[in-house]
Amino acid sequence: MSEKSNENSKTLTRRSVLKLSPALAGLVLKPDFVLFSQEIELKSPIDTPSSLMLHSKDGPNVHALAQLLVKKYRSLTYKSFYASLIAGKITGNKPPVLISIDDLGVTYLNPAFMRMIEAFAKQGLVGTLGIVTRGKPEEARPEIWEYLIGCQNLGWELAIHTEDHALLPSLGDRQLEFEIAQPFMDIQAATGVAPTTLLLPYGAVNKPNRQEFDQRIFDACRNLGMRWVVGIAGGKAFEGKPPYYVGRIAATQEGEETMRLLQSSFSFSKTAYRRERSPAGGKYFKF
Ligand SMILES: [Zn+2]
Repeated sequence: MSEKSNENSKTLTRRSVLKLSPALAGLVLKPDFVLFSQEIELKSPIDTPSSLMLHSKDGPNVHALAQLLVKKYRSLTYKSFYASLIAGKITGNKPPVLISIDDLGVTYLNPAFMRMIEAFAKQGLVGTLGIVTRGKPEEARPEIWEYLIGCQNLGWELAIHTEDHALLPSLGDRQLEFEIAQPFMDIQAATGVAPTTLLLPYGAVNKPNRQEFDQRIFDACRNLGMRWVVGIAGGKAFEGKPPYYVGRIAATQEGEETMRLLQSSFSFSKTAYRRERSPAGGKYFKF
């Protein structure tokens, strides 16, 4: 859950943000502009790349984990992975890893998150940040958005983690749509970039007590032009049209164990797909 503490948030100034994150302070890179309006259709399943979920509690282990990850992987965001699917190729010699950090707030940002981002940034790694956008207008913290935009400019992706960290399948239709559409609008308004990924709170994607996707989540994301619905269980491969469901593994306290889990849980190989042209001239991917 995103944390709230009025007392702490008073101490979060732009200066303290930059002090906590010297790796981010002087570096503003150009965002990678890609036409995400391009909808692809995958004719065969593609294995999900190694996909990792972190929370603030993982903060103390992140420095060591980042050092292990950078040896074996090249980091992508879900968004930049979609760009790779459009391009039909993954560049670089290392396999991709999708790192995500959940529960960042926009009225209070736990400094633990900034230290985690900095630990990854120091290793040249990027990831996807799950933003919970709840908060009254008078609680708005422009410096938090400024910090998040700085992360985005460094290649990090800002993803929807719903308005109120909602258990989406338990909600009525209108509330479910609100929990996705409101953060979509907030993130787009604050950053100028439309989010393309939903990180599901609690990984909840199935209808209550059923082993069946709640299609309303996918419909809401599709209506907004989004490309990824990211949960926890399953999602080891995906195909067809977006939005695609992919899973993640939770980091453990021990970096080597997390690395083993990442390698054993996912089987993506960058040589496993290539772009082909359909007889009608459209683009699709095939093994
Ligand atoms: Zn969460």
